[in-house]
Amino acid sequence: MERLDSLQHATLESVPSHHDEERDHLFSEVASIRTELRLLASQVSGVPVIPTRTPKRMDVQKACPNCGPMLQYRQKSKAKNVKGVKCTKCGARLCSREADGDFIVGLRTLVDDNVTCPSCGHRLSIKMDPVPGSVLDIDCIHCKVVLRISRGHTGLRCRIPSQPRAMIPPATLGEEFLQKVADLMVFKGWAARQLAP
Ligand SMILES: [Zn+2]
Ligand SMILES: [Zn+2]
Repeated sequence: MERLDSLQHATLESVPSHHDEERDHLFSEVASIRTELRLLASQVSGVPVIPTRTPKRMDVQKACPNCGPMLQYRQKSKAKNVKGVKCTKCGARLCSREADGDFIVGLRTLVDDNVTCPSCGHRLSIKMDPVPGSVLDIDCIHCKVVLRISRGHTGLRCRIPSQPRAMIPPATLGEEFLQKVADLMVFKGWAARQLAP
């Protein structure tokens, strides 16, 4: 937008003042371009833009609850973060959970949880892997619909897998983003109109 402002300024100054009509025309033209650009910017940014941020990870040292020796791994220090860990000595599948700034390691066993069936609203008790990313397919005991339960970092998600949600790939700022803006401009005939007398 800043560059457009200077463009507008330069264009108007270079036009002789007795061409008032032409200047007014140019002025309204620039104004409409600015409006259109703002609209395009909002359209493009309607796609979620995810900033690239590295989450804070901590070096953790904990004893294997199965065989004893120290395990070393890295884990996000975010509250209640859960990570699957495998003991390199005994091969035990373990689960490390953040708790008040510390990490607690236990065997990776199924935990009790519950979800609501999106089809019939029945509350279902389940046993599921505690690590985010795990998926469980079950039938609703009430309406028999097939359900897919997936565990995220913020909780469980329960859906009927025959109706997958449309995924919009997140846009990243950079060449691709600018190309998208340029494509949209061409698509909307903005460039073509600029070339017209
Ligand atoms: Zn072990
Ligand atoms: Zn159901």
